[in-house]
Amino acid sequence: MATYTPMIQQYLDIKAQYPDAFLFFRLGDFYEMFFDDAIKAAQELEITLTSRDGGGEERVPMCGVPYHSAQGYIEQLISKGYKVAICEQVEDPKTAKGVVRREVVQLITPGTVMEGKGLLDKENNYLATVTMFDDGTYGFAYTDLSTGENRITLLASLDDVMNELYAIGTKEIVISSQFPEQYQQLLKERYDVTISYEDETAIPEGFTSIVEALQQDKLKTTFGRLLHYIIRTQKRRLDHMQSVQVYQVDHYMKIDLYSKRNLELAETIRSKGRKGSLLWLLDETVTAMGGRLLKQWLDRPLLDRKQIERRLHMVETLIHHYFERQELRERLREVYDVERLAGRVAYGNVNARDLIQLKKSLQQIPALKDIVENLSDDEAKQLADKLDPCSELVDLLERSIQENPPLSVKEGNIIKDGYNETLDRYRDASRNGKAWIAQLESKERELTGIKSLKIGYNRVFGYYIEVTKPNLHLLPKGRYERKQTLANAERFITQELKEKEALILEAEEKSIELEYELFVDIRERVKQYIPRLQSLAKTISELDVLQSFATVSEERHYVKPQFSDNRELIIQAGRHPVVEKVLGAQTYVPNDCYMNKERELLLITGPNMSGKSTYMRQIALTAIMAQIGCFVPAEKAVLPIFDQVFTRIGAADDLVSGQSTFMVEMLEARNAIVHATQNSLILFDEIGRGTSTYDGMALAQAIIEYIHDHIGAKTLFSTHYHELTDLEQSLAKLKNVHVRAVEENGKVVFLHKIEEGPADQSYGIHVAELAELPASLIQRAKEILAELEQQEQRKEQPSGKNEAVFEQLSMFAEEQPSKEESHLSKKEKKALEALKSVNLLETTP
Ligand code: ADP
Repeated sequence: MATYTPMIQQYLDIKAQYPDAFLFFRLGDFYEMFFDDAIKAAQELEITLTSRDGGGEERVPMCGVPYHSAQGYIEQLISKGYKVAICEQVEDPKTAKGVVRREVVQLITPGTVMEGKGLLDKENNYLATVTMFDDGTYGFAYTDLSTGENRITLLASLDDVMNELYAIGTKEIVISSQFPEQYQQLLKERYDVTISYEDETAIPEGFTSIVEALQQDKLKTTFGRLLHYIIRTQKRRLDHMQSVQVYQVDHYMKIDLYSKRNLELAETIRSKGRKGSLLWLLDETVTAMGGRLLKQWLDRPLLDRKQIERRLHMVETLIHHYFERQELRERLREVYDVERLAGRVAYGNVNARDLIQLKKSLQQIPALKDIVENLSDDEAKQLADKLDPCSELVDLLERSIQENPPLSVKEGNIIKDGYNETLDRYRDASRNGKAWIAQLESKERELTGIKSLKIGYNRVFGYYIEVTKPNLHLLPKGRYERKQTLANAERFITQELKEKEALILEAEEKSIELEYELFVDIRERVKQYIPRLQSLAKTISELDVLQSFATVSEERHYVKPQFSDNRELIIQAGRHPVVEKVLGAQTYVPNDCYMNKERELLLITGPNMSGKSTYMRQIALTAIMAQIGCFVPAEKAVLPIFDQVFTRIGAADDLVSGQSTFMVEMLEARNAIVHATQNSLILFDEIGRGTSTYDGMALAQAIIEYIHDHIGAKTLFSTHYHELTDLEQSLAKLKNVHVRAVEENGKVVFLHKIEEGPADQSYGIHVAELAELPASLIQRAKEILAELEQQEQRKEQPSGKNEAVFEQLSMFAEEQPSKEESHLSKKEKKALEALKSVNLLETTP
């Protein structure tokens, strides 16, 4: 067995405790990595791989990054889903006997980053945990360490867990090591998350106050696991952890993850980016906190009418107070991320600049309060009351921290004069000393008569008197001690100068030390304000989101939605908010929608590209916008409160799960059919397209009938199976609507207008024409269509023969040149002859 050097042995002992993390092992000014870590890190970070003698037979692979630039490298690894264990020297190397003691001081993981690029301003960074119980239920909790927010719930199925995971967009999930392997696999595939294990579940000491809300054992177990993991990785006090909030998914409108994706609520299907999503449209927030809350609201539309109406009322008030709203926005712009600042105060990694930001933010509060109070509205008044200016804290920061402090907290220039007497004394000493030295130059010049005599300072020799060589003879003997010789000058010191210098340097050193102590003390005092800052942050975010809704609603001429109790839905001149924004309001064709208890299902027919799916989506988006408390894109909107929204739209291909489009289609249909109630909204776009015609049509019809007879959910069903429009006769609550298109000069023009009744014609051929397929092909398609229609008519007559349709349509059934053929050019005729002479039975594919 190899015997390693004590240091490598120490490394291996520590590494054994963190097998799934890169161990950043502090060696002087570097973090070093060894063995496999080094090989892998060198690749991932593109840094040089070297080696060192470790006492064993072979040299140990090694690579390292400088301590001062480690942050960037750590971020790179975290963003790739890795973990990094920071191992520091925890005793002074000068006094250490043998190898310096080292310990891991923090384990940084994708779900626990506190700073840097991994943390986007307008996005939460959630760490989630799932506990599976024997009865098939799941405990689900999540925390954002940067803000201290904690939420927990019990879920009935793995589907629900998946939905929640999608909603919060987590990067890391903590589970038991006993969690079933196949589910772990599923989590990894679906969400590209880092999986971490934690088996301790008892609520740890010191956290009783934040877990007061947890009554059930299941909740305690779930949250206990999360807490243990946080403690194990963070290794410090977490004063900013907020009380856990228990929530229930059925208190919010439920939108499964497929539908969230299909409706492009927070990201678009194609680019996976924000731009083009509903979130992008609605985001006129000016603070990072508001941006994060907006996303949370969008993820959880409300069901409680009172709560919804409270938000809508505030939005309305803000719309009516244009100038106040502008002022509010101006003020909010000056407010920094108080919520995350509070988190960093708890972590002990704020600097003086952060505290100045905090102060400036808090200084906006009185004005904000005034503005909100001046809206003279009861709801607004309640918000204004919650705006806590924390004036003692402002006062403390105003008295103590200089306006433009440096980044470093260890180099002085942080604390204001007058804050601390001792510090003032040190500063006086150093200032007086400096003033004395400044006067010394003229004094010495007078004394010696040397006009070019200079007083200077450098780091090595300190203060000195400089005399050029030609003047040296003028210096009196004795008083001047030679310090340094230059090419054409000599530098001297005097006893007096030495003493003053010592005084100045000592005072400076002491004052820097004292400044640091004072700063740490102030930081500790700020800690006590964390809960107040957090609740202030909440109110600010809320105001910001409300003003954002008001701003968008006004700009885009949205209307305040009303809610119906009798399941009636009236939308007049409704628009798809994002398509309207992209196309421009002039181009967009508004549409009405009317549904009630007698009119539950709308079967939408119309050519491709006519606007069917846009229409369907706009209904869902309108409902969601209303239930998050925003105005909606319509001239009038009366809506039921929907408990759930289900969609099966277009090609939201689920490539990740490796399922066929048709299977996904059926899974989504099943999801809706199993869970929908009469208060739900279902959008089915072209269901059944993924299989053969009759198969698909049969399924589509069966699905429609099932919803009609057993569920009664409001349903929009688009189809290109014209045959389905006959269902209007048999299903009382189903109505046909279509998207109008007209023919102009033999070409189809889409009007994007929804009208009653079924579409009267299939425009497929016209669309093919638009797509510029060859003229002869289009012509042939028209012929086939005509024949098919004749067939249909013949079939409908009782005496009609029941031949298979396609027999009649064999490509070249007519031997006589048709009328069309007589128009053909010579060349075309020749081609046609050639084709006709081919014996199809003798050809190969
Ligand atoms: P379908 O589902 O019928 O195939 P889409 O809903 O995808 O059609 O719409 C096709 C295109 O038509 C959209 O990309 C959009 O640009 C345009 N469109 C849809 N609805 C409207 C409308 N109401 N006003 C203007 N343009 C629209």
